Amino acid sequence: MSYFRSNIDAMTGYTPGDQPKVSKVIKLNTNENPYPPSPKAVKALQELNTNDLRKYPDPFSKPVINAAVEVYGCQADEVLVGNGSDDILTILIRSFASEDDTIGWLQPSYSLYPVLCNIQNSEPRFVNLNSDFSLPDDLEAQAEGCSLFFLTCPNAPTANSFDKEKIRQFCQSFRGIVVIDEAYGDFADENCLGLYTEFANVVVTRSFSKSYSLAGARVGMAFANKELISGMIKVKDSYNVNTLSQTMAAAALLDQEYFQETVGKIKATRTRIASELKELDFEVLDSQTNFLFVAPPVDAAVFFEALKQRHIFVRYFPGKETGRFIRVSVGTDEEMNEFIIAAKEIIK
Ligand code: PMP
Repeated sequence: MSYFRSNIDAMTGYTPGDQPKVSKVIKLNTNENPYPPSPKAVKALQELNTNDLRKYPDPFSKPVINAAVEVYGCQADEVLVGNGSDDILTILIRSFASEDDTIGWLQPSYSLYPVLCNIQNSEPRFVNLNSDFSLPDDLEAQAEGCSLFFLTCPNAPTANSFDKEKIRQFCQSFRGIVVIDEAYGDFADENCLGLYTEFANVVVTRSFSKSYSLAGARVGMAFANKELISGMIKVKDSYNVNTLSQTMAAAALLDQEYFQETVGKIKATRTRIASELKELDFEVLDSQTNFLFVAPPVDAAVFFEALKQRHIFVRYFPGKETGRFIRVSVGTDEEMNEFIIAAKEIIK
């Protein structure tokens, strides 16, 4: 006998990447930023009056919204702040999909979508990418009938972006809500943020976990027209983002100079490592993110384990489309040099 709803009993939970506790590890497995948060965010935290923690946080994360208005030129009522963008994804599903609805996403893509779909007990729809991980030509037909579709761009774990014109056409023809998950958008040459102002059914999500070095603070944002945002506010937890995180995220967002500098460093390291890996006969997919999706010239699962033994953690996704590859977050130059040394040893 189980007390759980049958769909909860039947489902498997999300598997987060390891957070190894060994002291000297090179952690390239969960796409965290290798650089510390903005010094201005740290200072804002230090200057916070801890007596204020007596009180609940701002229910709408106003400090973060104000910073977003300044940086993106959006309207305050077009932004919803979440406890990580994962919180936003949950709010989206609870807002727009019932048990009778179908939720769609790309395959391979972020493995949290099927988990959230199962919790909601909605019907899943997997839309396979082409073998080069580009969007299928019949995306519209395959997604038809879904009330919500997650379009991850740049995609994870494949690292590539999709043709923006194709995304625009999809937003135009799709009848449900299109969520453009831009958790990695800050590392890409172009992004789709503007599409939420063009189409009434588009929500664009962003994360502070990667480009703002605040994975531990858990802050994300959704951009959409004010009708969608005001409906989603009804669904969110009343005080979904804590005071400490709101303070840090607002200061980090306003420090665009530091943001540009660290994102620039990560992109430069990404370019260098991509070409070094190509010289070692790795297949390297174009990356528009802070990670590389690469196929080693030896068995990927063996390569993954051999790195682990050397205390270098990357991510391996077994399966037909992804099993040839490993996903490597872009770390500091020193960390990546260690990774290259290990890679050379292993493939020898
Ligand atoms: N979307 C994608 C595609 C991701 O890879 C991640 C990170 N695992 C998230 C959303 C969630 O990011 P966070 O909750 O840390 O903002």
